[in-house]
Amino acid sequence: MIHPWQVLRSERGLTDTVRQAFIHAYGKRGSDAVDAVSDNRVKKYKDYFVVVGNSGEYYVEGDFCSCDARLYGKECWHTLAVKIAKELGVYETYDLWYYKDGVDEDEPEYERG
Ligand SMILES: [Zn+2]
Repeated sequence: MIHPWQVLRSERGLTDTVRQAFIHAYGKRGSDAVDAVSDNRVKKYKDYFVVVGNSGEYYVEGDFCSCDARLYGKECWHTLAVKIAKELGVYETYDLWYYKDGVDEDEPEYERG
């Protein structure tokens, strides 16, 4: 059994070995996640990590993702992409609140905490 996270830590980058390990462990989710990280599609806002997917942006907090996959009882690759990006420290950082400045502008009364 290949442990992709161990491979990631020892390779310290998105090498072919890492890519293969994630595909081995997670299938298409693995390749989608690795692709997103290598394409710099993971962004860190003050409140959430945001992943730019094929059909939109999704925010991720821990194992929660705002995309539709969980409605169908599936796991998406966005949370996986964020974990990889965090492990490598590879993401763009924005000094903005994603929730307040980006989405859900209909709810101005939202306050954190
Ligand atoms: Zn998702």
